[in-house]
Amino acid sequence: MNDMINRLVIISNRLPIILEKENGKWKTIPGSGGLVTALAPVLKNRGGMWIGWPGTSELTDVSKPIEKASSSAGFTMKPVLLNEEEIEGYYIGLSNEVIWPLFHDLQSYCNFDPQYWDTYKEINRRFAEVTIENTSTEDFIWVHDYHLINVAQELKKLGTRSKIGFFLHIPFPPLDIFFKLPWRREILLAMLEYDVIGFQTLRDRRNFIQCVRALTEGIIIQGKGQVIIARIGNRTIRICSFPISIDYKNFVSLARSKKVADEAWFIHEKLPGYQIILGIDRLDYTKGIPYRLKAFRNALQRYPELLNKVILIQVVVPSRRNIPVYNELKEEIERLVGEINGEFTRSGWVPIHYIYRSLRKNELLAYYRTAEIALITPLKDGMNLVAKEYCVSNIEEKGVLILSEFAGTAAQLQKGALLVNPYDIQKVADAIYRAFKMDEAERKIRMSKMRKAIKRSDIFWWVNSYLQAAISHDLESFPLLEEYLPPYDI
Ligand code: UDP
Repeated sequence: MNDMINRLVIISNRLPIILEKENGKWKTIPGSGGLVTALAPVLKNRGGMWIGWPGTSELTDVSKPIEKASSSAGFTMKPVLLNEEEIEGYYIGLSNEVIWPLFHDLQSYCNFDPQYWDTYKEINRRFAEVTIENTSTEDFIWVHDYHLINVAQELKKLGTRSKIGFFLHIPFPPLDIFFKLPWRREILLAMLEYDVIGFQTLRDRRNFIQCVRALTEGIIIQGKGQVIIARIGNRTIRICSFPISIDYKNFVSLARSKKVADEAWFIHEKLPGYQIILGIDRLDYTKGIPYRLKAFRNALQRYPELLNKVILIQVVVPSRRNIPVYNELKEEIERLVGEINGEFTRSGWVPIHYIYRSLRKNELLAYYRTAEIALITPLKDGMNLVAKEYCVSNIEEKGVLILSEFAGTAAQLQKGALLVNPYDIQKVADAIYRAFKMDEAERKIRMSKMRKAIKRSDIFWWVNSYLQAAISHDLESFPLLEEYLPPYDI
C-alpha cells in the first residue's frame, strides 16, 4: 500500500446510526437506506471513520453512545451536531426542498428560499471543521451526496492537504433544469474543488459536463470510458461513472437461509395461487407510487384475467415526515389504495396489500425471494438498490422485474428487465400483464442475466473502482484489522 494513504474517511449527512432519547436514555437505531447498506460492510473492521449527523437535534454530549456504537460497528464514528433551525435550512431546506427535487427533474417541488443557501454553506463548513479536527493528510476523505457538495471547498479554506473525493448518489440533471438553480455556478464550482467526482451513470456525467462547459471557462475535458479527466490550470480532476451496488454474496446467502425460506413459504401459504407483485419504496414523490397504482388499476380494468389472480403488495417505508409534501403524498397513496381496493375487492381477494412501515430484513428478503413480479417504477432515481436486491435474492430465478427506464440501474439491467416509462400508465399496465403471462423459461433467462450483471459489479467492485480512480488503490489497501481476521482453519 502506498504510504501516503492511511485511512478511509467517509463523510455523509447521516451517520450509519440514529440516536434517539427514550426515557432520558440514548437509544441507538441502525440507519437504513442505500448508502448505509452499501458502505457499512466496507468500513467494518478496517480502522476507518464515518463523520455525519446522528439524527437528533439535541446538542448534548453524545460521545458515550457514539463510542459504544462505534465499537459494535467496527469503525469510528464522529458526530456533527445540528440544532432544529440548522436542520430546517440545511437538510429540509436546501438539500430536500431544492437539490433533491431539482436533480430529479421535478422542479415544481422546489422552494428556492435564499436563507436555505446560507445555512447550507454554514453547515457544510461545520462538517469540514469536524473533518479537519479528526483527519490527517494521509487519509482519503470520501464525501457523499448532495447535502455536502461544499465540503471540499470549505476543507481547502481550512488548509487541508488530504485528497478528497465526492460521489453523487442522486442523478445530475440536464442543463436546462440545472440552470434554474439560483446558485448554479457556486454549486458547480464547489463540485470542481474535489480531486475526483463520481456519478452513478454516464447519463449523469454527461449532464454534468454539459453544465461545466456552459458555466465555466478554461476547463479542458479529455478522455473517454468510465474515468475521464478535467484540467483546470495545474489541477487535474477525475470524473467517473460507477453504479453503486449491493453485497451480492451476502444477499444470496441470506436469501438461502432457513429463516428467509420459512418466511417466504409462509407468505405464499397465506396467499395461495396468487402471483405477488411487489413494490417497495421509501415514501418519496420521485418513486412514482401514485402512477404505479394507477397503472395497476388500469391493468385490472383492461386485463380481467388478472382479477383474483394477482396481489400487489406495496410497501412504503416512512421517510422525511417533517416535509409537508411527503404527508400529502402519503394521503394520495392511501386514497388511491382505498379507491382501487374499494372498486375491485371480491370475497376472499383484496388486490392491494398496503404496508406503511419498515420491514425486518428477513421479511424484506422473503418478499424479494418469493414475489413473482417486482414493480419498480421511479420517475427518476440515482440507482435504485431495491431493484438489485430483488434480483439477487430471487434465487429460484422465477421473478420478473418491471423497471423504470429512468432508474440509474436500468443501464445495467436493461437486458433482463421489462423496461417502462413510469408516466405511461397503459404501457406499465401492459408490462404487468406481460410479466403475469411470462413462462418460466423466459423468466429464468432474464433473471439470470440480471443476477450475473449484478454479481460482476457488486458493492466491492464499486468501492474498488472508485478508489482505483481516486487514489490508485483498492479495498485491499485498507486491510481488515488483525484482531478481526477470521481464525485459521488448521
Ligand atoms: N430498505 C430498508 N427497509 C425497508 C425496505 C427497504 O432498509 O423496510 C432498504 C433497501 O434494502 C434498500 C434501501 O432501503 O437498500 C433503499 O435504497 P434505494 O436505492 O432503492 O432507494 P433510496 O431509499 O436510497 O432512495
